[in-house]
Amino acid sequence: MSNRLKVTPNDLSAFWMPFTANRQFKQAPRMLVSAKDMHYTAADGRKILDGTAGLWCVNAGHCRPKITEAIQNQAAELDYAPAFQMGHPIVFELANRLVDIAPKGMEHVFFTNSGSESVDTALKMAIAYHRAKGDGARFRLIGRERGYHGVNFGGISVGGIVSNRKMFGTLLTGVDHLPHTHLPGKNTFTKGEPEHGADLADELERIVALHDASTVAAVIVEPVAGSTGVLIPPKGYLKRLREICTKHGILLIFDEVITGFGRLGTPFAADYFDVVPDIITTAKGVSNGVIPMGAVFVTKEVHDAFMNGPEHMIEFFHGYTYSGNPIASAAALATLETYKEEGLLTRGAELAPYWEEALHSLKGEPHVIDIRNIGLIGAIELEPIAGAPTKRAFQAFVTAFERGALIRTTGDIIALSPPLIISKGQIDELIDHVREVLRMVD
Ligand code: PMP
Repeated sequence: MSNRLKVTPNDLSAFWMPFTANRQFKQAPRMLVSAKDMHYTAADGRKILDGTAGLWCVNAGHCRPKITEAIQNQAAELDYAPAFQMGHPIVFELANRLVDIAPKGMEHVFFTNSGSESVDTALKMAIAYHRAKGDGARFRLIGRERGYHGVNFGGISVGGIVSNRKMFGTLLTGVDHLPHTHLPGKNTFTKGEPEHGADLADELERIVALHDASTVAAVIVEPVAGSTGVLIPPKGYLKRLREICTKHGILLIFDEVITGFGRLGTPFAADYFDVVPDIITTAKGVSNGVIPMGAVFVTKEVHDAFMNGPEHMIEFFHGYTYSGNPIASAAALATLETYKEEGLLTRGAELAPYWEEALHSLKGEPHVIDIRNIGLIGAIELEPIAGAPTKRAFQAFVTAFERGALIRTTGDIIALSPPLIISKGQIDELIDHVREVLRMVD
C-alpha cells in the first residue's frame, strides 16, 4: 500500500462525513489504514480488535484472500454490465446460491446496493404486490417505534428513530407505528429472548382496526433491532405478528440487514425464530461488507403476483444502475463460499453460550444498568449522565478505541457484534477491554 494512504492528510474539511459530528471528529480524527481478520490497524500503527464487524457487516473477518481474489479477477474480466434488459452469468449464480441458504419459502432475489435501498425496494414491492393482485387500496405501511430501516425516505418513514426523522419534513403518508418491545422494568439482564411482552404484538390488531385491514399493505420490523440498542423480541412476539398479518392479508417484511448471514447462529433470524415473513431485506453480510450490495428475498407468492399479474406489472418499474453489479456479485459469491467452508452461518450458535457468559460477567461493573444478548450480539446499557445523555457511552467508545478495541455505541448503549470468526480468547479480550473502559469513564 502506498504510504500516501497511511498518513493523515492535513486538511480534512472537504469530506462531509455521514452520521458523524464533523467538527469534533476533525479535531481528533480516528483513522483506520488496514485490516486483517479480527483486527484493524490505526494510522499510528496500533492494532484494534474489531468488536463490531465494522458496522455489523464484516461477518467473515477482514481482507479474506478468497474474497479479495474474486474481486480482483472479476474486475479484470467483466467490470460492469448494464443491469436492465441484460444479464451476466454470475448474478444468476449468486441468486441461486442465496436462495439455497434462505429460509424455506424464499425463492427469488432482487439486488440493491445497501440496506436502505433494500428497505425502500421492499416497501415499494409490498404496495405494488397488492396492486398486481387487484387490491390497490392497500397502501399503508406499519413500522415500529425505535425501528431502524436505513435513511431513505421510505425507511425513515417506517423507522422510529426521532433524530433521523425530524429534520426531513412530512415523510411518507399512510404510515403508522407499533410500540417498541423494550420493557426495562420487566426485562433486565435477559439472556436470549425476554419473557415479557409478546402481547405487544396485539397492538397490530388495534392499528389494523383503526385503519381497516383493507388499506394496509405491509408491516416491517427488524427481528432483532440493532441500531437502536439491541432490542430482542419477547418470546412469541414475532409468531404473533405473523399470525395477525396472515389473518388480514398483510405482508410481513423482516429487515434482516444486520441479522442476516449468521449473526444469530442461524443463516437468518427467520430461521432462529422459526417465522417466515413474505419479504426479507438484507445487505452488509451478503458481501461481507467489502463491496456495497443488498438483496431482497421474496416468496414465490409475492414474485408470482407480478409475473402472473396484469401485463403492465410484469416489469417491476424499479432497480438500480448497480443492481447485481458483477464485481459485487463475485464478492458475494466468494463470501458465501467462505461462510460455507468455515461453517460461519451457524458458528454463532456454538459460541453463543460462551459469549453470553462473558458478556454477563460485566454485571456489577460501574454504570451498567442492563445487559442483553442473542446469537453473537450483545448490549451493555449504561446509566446516562444526568443532563448529558449519550456522553458516557461515547466516552466509552473513544476510550476503547484508544485502548485497542472497536465497540459501537448508540444512545447510552454499547452494542457488540464481532466478526463470526472470533475466538474464545478474543471474546475474553474484547470483554476485558469493555470492563476496563467502564472503570475508566466518568
Ligand atoms: N436496516 C437495518 C436493520 C440496518 O441495521 C441498517 C444499517 N445499520 C439499514 C437498514 C441500512 O443499511 P445501509 O446503511 O446499508 O443503507
